[in-house]
Amino acid sequence: MADSISVAAVEAVDVSKRYGYMEALKSISLRIECGEFLALFGHNGAGKTTLLRLIATHITPSAGMVKIFGEDAFKDNGIRRRIGLVTHSSFLYDELTVRENLLFYAAQFGVNEDEFLDTVECLDMRRWYDVQVKHLSHGLRKRADIIRALSHDPDLILLDEPFSGLDNETCEVLVNYFNGERARARGRGGRRKTLVMASHSLEWAKKLCDRGISLHRGEIVGEMSL
Ligand code: ATP
Repeated sequence: MADSISVAAVEAVDVSKRYGYMEALKSISLRIECGEFLALFGHNGAGKTTLLRLIATHITPSAGMVKIFGEDAFKDNGIRRRIGLVTHSSFLYDELTVRENLLFYAAQFGVNEDEFLDTVECLDMRRWYDVQVKHLSHGLRKRADIIRALSHDPDLILLDEPFSGLDNETCEVLVNYFNGERARARGRGGRRKTLVMASHSLEWAKKLCDRGISLHRGEIVGEMSL
């Protein structure tokens, strides 16, 4: 598998995505370096979710090329194993406990419980571990969803508006966790996580991300250091 210091985590070249007549992304080119934390900004309908879902390989582009860690994202090359995605919709089963959900998803990647218990601790979910998901508040469910997406220790973390609807305390927990991931990279022999998140909050994005990109009607219209 192609992977070296010079390989980008994400490389998109002239990527477009159409839904019927609607062009949600218009010839986007973007490079996200390994270890970078990037925020995607834009009004409702700008194309942020579409871009995240493309990078996650959940949808295919209508035109253009997407490489993840130097590999064609749409070839069956196991690249999904290296990606963790949190969307607006929860992937958790209401009737199962947090633990049962996490075990279910982790098993799909051959991951054991001890491999994600640290994340459960860091996101302060131990108290709700044996609670059915249907009894969790929005913020707790979001935390559980994030742990689910991280349970297989992905190198590329994709978050769609992770702070939306969360109180400040929960936002802090998330920011501290992901900033801690940068520090923990040293313990992983320098294997750094890359994070891309859609956000309506410049304030929280600034606490986490290095760079921001603005989308407007499917086009990149601005870029900034955060
Ligand atoms: P928001 O901030 O509201 O989540 P967004 O920036 O994430 O918006 P997208 O969800 O990517 O925007 O949507 C971009 C455009 O594509 C919108 O006009 C949306 O209506 C359209 N769109 C997204 N998904 C689909 C779909 N499955 N079928 C048809 N149109 C879609």
